[in-house]
Amino acid sequence: MLQGAFHDGQSAQRHDVTVDREADALILRDGAGSLLARWPLTEVRRVDRPDGTRPGRLSLGRDDAARLLLEQAAYETVAAWCPTLTKRDISWNSHGRPFLLWTGAAVLSVTLLFAFIIPWMARVIALSLPSPWEAELGKASEDLLVRVVARIEHKSPEQMICAEGPGLEILQRLLRQMVAQPVLGLTQPPTLAVLDTDLVNALALPGGRMVLLRGLIDEAKHPNELLGVLAHEMGHLAKRHPTEMAVQTVGTSVLLSLLIGDATGGTGLTLMGESLINGAYSRDKERAADAVAVETLAAAGWDPRPFALFFDRLAKQQGGLEEHLSWISSHPLSEDRAAAIRAAQGPSGIAMTDLEWARVRTICKGQNSAN
Ligand SMILES: [Zn+2]
Repeated sequence: MLQGAFHDGQSAQRHDVTVDREADALILRDGAGSLLARWPLTEVRRVDRPDGTRPGRLSLGRDDAARLLLEQAAYETVAAWCPTLTKRDISWNSHGRPFLLWTGAAVLSVTLLFAFIIPWMARVIALSLPSPWEAELGKASEDLLVRVVARIEHKSPEQMICAEGPGLEILQRLLRQMVAQPVLGLTQPPTLAVLDTDLVNALALPGGRMVLLRGLIDEAKHPNELLGVLAHEMGHLAKRHPTEMAVQTVGTSVLLSLLIGDATGGTGLTLMGESLINGAYSRDKERAADAVAVETLAAAGWDPRPFALFFDRLAKQQGGLEEHLSWISSHPLSEDRAAAIRAAQGPSGIAMTDLEWARVRTICKGQNSAN
């Protein structure tokens, strides 16, 4: 029979105990023979070895406050019974190797999730999304976009939208004319909203919506250039690219909110607004939309080559920077896109008369004078 001392971890009292082994446990009894503790051998852990002046100390697991104190000889006997005396107990706040491995695996799986799984799922969902949902997503995206641009311009959302007028009617008629070309692949003309801002952009949104920013009309040097951009955006619509991107952004932001614990969903809105404005699609998607635009313009009887002017200007604005970044950027070089468009053989028609072009160019004029 082995002798030791026992602190139960709750009171300051020290008990002299006898230590027995019974099957797979240590049995601790006080001098009267009452059972004080029963410790399974696999859960006994070493706190300190005996060092000649002090007894060795054992505990039950790592977290329990109870201690069994044993002098050298008794300690050696008990240590031989306990197979996992020095085992590290892994807990969530441990900083040992298992935790690092876990972190590595988590980073890897999150990376896979964002880089491959979400984009793939977004495509699958976009292609099977019921049209009322897609329409809802489009409406929400457009409202958000108008609000984002209004904030940039320090105006109210209502002030942003250029009202109906002859210029808008001309554009809508030309959109219908392009949709009538089977090569475009759209069955219905998109809705078109023109926003009164100097920002130079045009965007396609889920549910057959297009938003044209006035700055792009101001910058355009030729009617066919503007129609090329609109045809390009319709090409994205025909291939459901905007729905895919919206689903991906929503999915990503929901996951980000979960990961960083953003309960208000502010991350989601910010991300959505940003992805709407930047509207960055993959290189392949941009090339596909360019090709559809060129074919649609040609099918409608218009010269597609002025569409290249848009990319000339883009290349000039971005200068050498774009070329420098092209290997990491997912966008095809503007110069390459312009060259591909110029190489197209097409008719020589101009989409608008001079008068029509003048009306389109003053589409937001009533807006400006009202301010
Ligand atoms: Zn595009």
